[in-house]
Amino acid sequence: MKSLLTFPKGGVHPPECKAQTQGLGIEIMPVPDELELILGQHIGAPCTATVAKRDEVIEGAVIGEVQKGLGVPLHSPVAGKIKNLATSVHAVRVSAPSITIEVDREAAPVQYQKVDWQQLAGADLLAKIHDAGIIGIGGAGFPTHVKLNPPADSPVDTLVLNGAECEPYITADHRQMLENPGQIVEGAKIILKILGITRCFIGIENNKPDAIREMTKAAEQASGGEYSITIQPLQVKYPQGSEKQLIQAITGRKVPAMALPSAVGVVVQNVTTAKAIYDAVVYGKPLYEKVVTIAGKGIARQANLQVKIGTKVRDIVKYLGGLQPGLAKVVMGGPMMGFAVSSLDVPVTKTTSAVLFLTEDEIDTKPHSQCIRCGWCLDACPMGLEPKEIGIYVEANRAQDTAQFGVFDCFECGSCAYVCPAKRPLVQFIRLAKMKAKRQ
Ligand code: SF4
Ligand code: SF4
Repeated sequence: MKSLLTFPKGGVHPPECKAQTQGLGIEIMPVPDELELILGQHIGAPCTATVAKRDEVIEGAVIGEVQKGLGVPLHSPVAGKIKNLATSVHAVRVSAPSITIEVDREAAPVQYQKVDWQQLAGADLLAKIHDAGIIGIGGAGFPTHVKLNPPADSPVDTLVLNGAECEPYITADHRQMLENPGQIVEGAKIILKILGITRCFIGIENNKPDAIREMTKAAEQASGGEYSITIQPLQVKYPQGSEKQLIQAITGRKVPAMALPSAVGVVVQNVTTAKAIYDAVVYGKPLYEKVVTIAGKGIARQANLQVKIGTKVRDIVKYLGGLQPGLAKVVMGGPMMGFAVSSLDVPVTKTTSAVLFLTEDEIDTKPHSQCIRCGWCLDACPMGLEPKEIGIYVEANRAQDTAQFGVFDCFECGSCAYVCPAKRPLVQFIRLAKMKAKRQ
């Protein structure tokens, strides 16, 4: 066994809560009667609808395009009819423009044909990734074709695939690594060809020994000759899966403040994004499905569900047998970085990795109090920031003056809030501080 790597500063060990779903294989959820697709699914400019009410669409058809700026197209996950162009409930932005599609249950599923991607040039591979609407599935939703085209003055020599999946409860990437290891590794080879490099590390936390085993087998089959693909086991420590921490753990390189990974010669992609790249390049299949972990004591049945993008949480609840008494909070994403939602009408997007149904005993409802200056948040912060000062400044109506404490380097991992004995809502303070400091 290789030695277990990790990042040097900060980090926390929240209860993993993965046992409930890590053994549950990917299950395909039947398509509900209608889907709601949010037009802004990625970082950058949102799509503009390219369809009108009552238009008929086929599975995989483009229904939204970015007119200007950074972005990728949006595709219909089903054959059907456009019912409406309106707004949907959104996990972060409250509401967002969307397209509602009524599903045609008579339509035959599209059969995608396999192509030999090795014959394609890097530029053609990149175009396929853009055209298939691929974005960073595991994180913030940055368009993948842009990430795979780093600036010429930042030469890249290493690809890191992120299989850490350090957020509690979530096991969707774990299941992908167990069930589709060959496709993930093939996706890595496609990325290596685009970047014109040969070295890839796949970082996996050591609480997934079965995934490490399966991925090692697939990587050994694919390595040799042109490419070197190595599985790197990692210590279990949150936020091991954040880009900068993962790069430092595996390569020892430290990404400077406000810089991109390419500044230290690295590109990071999530393992499930690599699988989506495989689907897009080898089969020409757009990104319109997602494996989502459904967990928590507040739902009748937990699962790793493959759903169409645009499936409402309400339909997932119905399929899994309904809600349980004592449900206190529904969270889109993990408990550390996810967002609580107040409506079950919120639809799954390309970046939804989990929906958690948490009961009273799974959440902390104690009210917050004054900072007692214990310094635990400083010790927990993997970026070496001063979350306590940011919180104190926000409460003193001086949010705009928090850049001095590195507020823009904060990636909202929640480690500081997790350890705070005063239960201070440090991430909410930080989000507010960023907003006001940006305006300033
Ligand atoms: S949320 Fe921000 S300030 Fe808090 S620990 Fe994470 S990076 Fe540091
Ligand atoms: S952990 Fe909480 S109480 Fe302790 S210094 Fe940080 S903000 Fe204050």
